[in-house]
Amino acid sequence: MIYPSTIAIDGPAGSGKSSVCSALAAEFQYLFVDTGAFYRAVTLAAIRADLMAAGETAIAALAERCDFDISKDHYDDDVYTIWLNGEDVTETVRTPHVERHVSEVARMSAVRDTLNMKYRQLAKRGKVIMAGRDIGTVVLPDADLKIYLDASAEVRAIRRALQREAAGLPADYATILNTMRERDRIDSTRTVAPMLRPADAVYVNSDTMTMEQVIETLKQIIRTWKPANEGVE
Ligand code: C5P
Repeated sequence: MIYPSTIAIDGPAGSGKSSVCSALAAEFQYLFVDTGAFYRAVTLAAIRADLMAAGETAIAALAERCDFDISKDHYDDDVYTIWLNGEDVTETVRTPHVERHVSEVARMSAVRDTLNMKYRQLAKRGKVIMAGRDIGTVVLPDADLKIYLDASAEVRAIRRALQREAAGLPADYATILNTMRERDRIDSTRTVAPMLRPADAVYVNSDTMTMEQVIETLKQIIRTWKPANEGVE
């Protein structure tokens, strides 16, 4: 069976991209590149270096010097490790402190240019599944397979609230929904690389699906993929 070498998965915050991509990476032995995690890692590095107020050029230069990686040894159950200069920052990049500053950093075009070069380098390793907001449109416009994973803000907020509840964290639905809508607004209206649905992406709306059904649907899309000259099913 022939598999796509590069798979681009875009979609809004909370659409389940990281869970789905880690399951797909485990099933088909892909390298999963979670670009959101790397924006978070640069933000963490900038906060630690006290560079948040230093501007775009300084933060892009810092990003250039940073060494990022994502471990590919165990993706099962959505477990993967984000590395920043050899340190495991998987938990730290998800803290509210980083979360508050990440969209500010992700809006900087010099930072995006620097990270995009790193993402394209990673994609050259082959068999890469890359998740984000602008992968099919900007980072890998020639990806073999593009998928846009969507869900309504309401459904995404319910899922996030249940996840938080299960983890014993505060889970107020109305607050989560508002935050979700605000992130959607920022992601889709920013001038640099806004979140867009690529015209040539397979569209999957997961509103009425369980996570297992979404994973199964995407597995089928990958299994039935055909190279462009043979036509995509
Ligand atoms: O996907 P995640 O929520 O971890 O993304 C963190 C931040 O990085 C978000 O604010 C999002 O806007 C930004 N991001 C981006 N482009 C990507 C991936 C994430 O701007 N390709």
